[in-house]
Amino acid sequence: MTGLRFDLRDPPHGAAALRAELRAFIAEHEHRWTPEVRARSWMGFDRDFTRAVGARGWIGMCWPKQYGGAERSFLERNIVLEELLAAGAPVGAHWIGDRQSGPLILRLGTDAQRAKFLPGIARGDLAFCIGLSEPDSGSDLASLRTRADRTDTGWLLNGRKIWTTFGHLCDWMIALVRTSPAPEGGSRHQGLSQVLVDLRAPGVTIRPIRDLVGEEGFNEITFDDVRLPPDALVGTEGAGWAQATSELAFERSGPDRYMSSHPLLEAGMAALRDDPATAPALGREVARLWTLRAMSTAIAGMLQDGADPVRQAALVKDLGNDFEQALPGAMRALRDVDDMPEPMRRMHAYLTQITPTFSLRGGTREIMRGIIARELGLR
Ligand SMILES: Cc1cc2nc3c(=O)[nH]c(=O)nc-3n(C[C@H](O)[C@H](O)[C@H](O)COP(=O)(O)OP(=O)(O)OC[C@H]3O[C@@H](n4cnc5c(N)ncnc54)[C@H](O)[C@@H]3O)c2cc1C
Repeated sequence: MTGLRFDLRDPPHGAAALRAELRAFIAEHEHRWTPEVRARSWMGFDRDFTRAVGARGWIGMCWPKQYGGAERSFLERNIVLEELLAAGAPVGAHWIGDRQSGPLILRLGTDAQRAKFLPGIARGDLAFCIGLSEPDSGSDLASLRTRADRTDTGWLLNGRKIWTTFGHLCDWMIALVRTSPAPEGGSRHQGLSQVLVDLRAPGVTIRPIRDLVGEEGFNEITFDDVRLPPDALVGTEGAGWAQATSELAFERSGPDRYMSSHPLLEAGMAALRDDPATAPALGREVARLWTLRAMSTAIAGMLQDGADPVRQAALVKDLGNDFEQALPGAMRALRDVDDMPEPMRRMHAYLTQITPTFSLRGGTREIMRGIIARELGLR
């Protein structure tokens, strides 16, 4: 068995000062966040707040300064993520760009692509979405059918993506598409590429889809003869599968995979502070949180070292989703819903409805366990 090590990391130099700065910043903004906004956490979309975060240098903060970054470490970035998530800040307008699209462009994009996109993401001006899933291709992503065909002037894009979070609010998508047929008898993973798509280009149609709570957070996006420029390709033509799967380590390992319900835990701790009978149960939740945090921080350290911790990320996502999904029930077991203080009751109501999606978005529980089982040599 190899590759499932989690080396614990010490907090980075200056961690306490950075946390204090973030808490002061959050205190300036949090009066505007209702319990539902806080409960929505990284699924809250607020461009003004995102620009305020960008102005502080907290988006793309590990990127080179020449591209709008701050050249700080992944471990410092983790502190920023933790503080924003703990407060339930509406970070959705920069979450994807900061977490995966920006790092992908930095790693594999051309200098021109880096200069064009990264400073805008870091300022909070450019919002990105993820174009992986299709109506008939979710877990079995390699079966996707959206195609980009080479033309004299670039690429011609046709097909459909679905469940695209914030597609209707974003500026750009990085889409995984087929650019050449899978070889006869060969792997379906060949011939896939990643392309940048301007969501305002002619031929792009965005249809919002209502979620479990009745909100329109994700979309179906259709591409009808969308003309892409030659430099729409990110990375290497045909290497899209490897590129997209390594991008998933950024998507799956962060605190957003176990802190989506965190504001409810904070509200529960405040409400139950004077009830010693609940302390052991609350302590168990905090111990689970702390363990996940140590694992996630270890992955941030691995990313810092240039490693590709895809399997560790799958483990954190699976265990983290279990934790964040169980929190509303855990709180309900400790305090009757009718006796919860109002903000807590409202967060509990929202999260009870939405938590089933946590183990679908970013790859399902079964797929995460398949990756882990493969690493353990069980399949
Ligand atoms: C809130 C939310 C936001 C999302 N945002 C985005 C986004 O921004 N961009 C994007 O591209 N996608 C997004 N998705 C889509 C998400 O990635 C897919 O829903 C997910 O990958 C599952 O694909 P599917 O829905 O087609 O289900 P399917 O793949 O059809 O799976 C159905 C069920 O079968 C199980 N299953 C499938 N294959 C296997 C297997 N081999 N072994 C065991 N069990 C299996 C699955 O675990 C699942 O329980 C989002 C989804 C949600 C819920």
